Amino acid sequence: MKPKRKVLLPQPIEEKALEILHTNRIDVVSAPDTDVSTILPLIKDVHAVVLRTGLKVTDELLAGAKRLLTISRTGGGVDNVDLKSATARGVLVTSSVGVNTASVVEHCFALMLSLFKQLNLLDTELRKGNFRIRYKNIPSDIHEKCLGLIGFGRIGSMFGQLCRSCFDMRIIAYDPYLAKDVRDELGEWVTFTDFESLVKEADVISVHVPFTESTKNLLNMNCFKRMKTEAFVINASRGGVVNEDDLAEALKKGVIKGAGLDVFQKEPPRSDNPLLKMDRVILTPHSAALTKECVVKMAVSAVGRVLDVFNHFVPDNIANPEVLEHENWRGMREKPRR
Ligand code: NAD
Repeated sequence: MKPKRKVLLPQPIEEKALEILHTNRIDVVSAPDTDVSTILPLIKDVHAVVLRTGLKVTDELLAGAKRLLTISRTGGGVDNVDLKSATARGVLVTSSVGVNTASVVEHCFALMLSLFKQLNLLDTELRKGNFRIRYKNIPSDIHEKCLGLIGFGRIGSMFGQLCRSCFDMRIIAYDPYLAKDVRDELGEWVTFTDFESLVKEADVISVHVPFTESTKNLLNMNCFKRMKTEAFVINASRGGVVNEDDLAEALKKGVIKGAGLDVFQKEPPRSDNPLLKMDRVILTPHSAALTKECVVKMAVSAVGRVLDVFNHFVPDNIANPEVLEHENWRGMREKPRR
């Protein structure tokens, strides 16, 4: 009989995903909190971790995880895993990239509408009795404006398509890593450009890149100064991609018009973060993918990949493919596709 597998849940996951683990006779270890001192003794003898965003799996944790085979992220980003250490230790890391694309796109769309239409401000003023604010013509139109997408992967490209078809927006994009044949196949609805031109031309810039050394502080004061003063920034990727101090200063000085942010350099943001007090920004608590429907899809997908790994099938969305060289993964099979 195969030894029973154990999965650690540092944070709770949705019932439907939990049921899948139980049906497959997997032992579930639920952590009461995500403190390192709580996780260290628990991670010691589990074979998998289903990971949300509330815990960073560091080298220290990985060093104590002697039986760990895989870490499966419920979300798309893997920036809360020390990938280098995981790879060196033969731990296969996977993500749910793609599963949440439509939900994040809808959220970016909502942020964009809210910014152009100034919904927050109008709502606040009306509640204060200021109905006459309607005569100030505060909202602006999106129709035929220019959307600049930084990162043209799953989310960026779907957001672009939606904005193009809904509002006839002009879509420009900067993504130096996108293969030429992929760009060529896209036809004429998007124009690829360099970073400088995008920053100058866009009426709204939306960022959809992973957080890496090369994307850290990608949008900073230098870039805000070259944007149109009426332009907006949307960031639902990762907080560190936009320099928050610079953004707050740019908004305060009227260098740009506003911003919609779902992600922050530090989450939750500190109570003295100046962005929290500004009415030129609309803020959401890293909730773009956390819709009722999407959380279930992401958890089910994460658990499915853990089962694939336990069954020695190559799982989807491997974040550290180099790990497949490790002896743990010799003889892995392709999953039968239905
Ligand atoms: P993706 O991998 O499909 O696309 C990312 C794109 O960014 C790729 O095309 C890549 O070539 C491009 N890129 C990488 N570095 C770049 C750079 N320096 N300049 C320009 N382009 C660059 O990922 P996705 O599913 O579209 O997700 C994008 C990001 O959104 C994720 O990395 C994640 O951090 C974030 N995300 C956030 C939420 C949320 O809840 N707010 C949910 C899902 C994903």
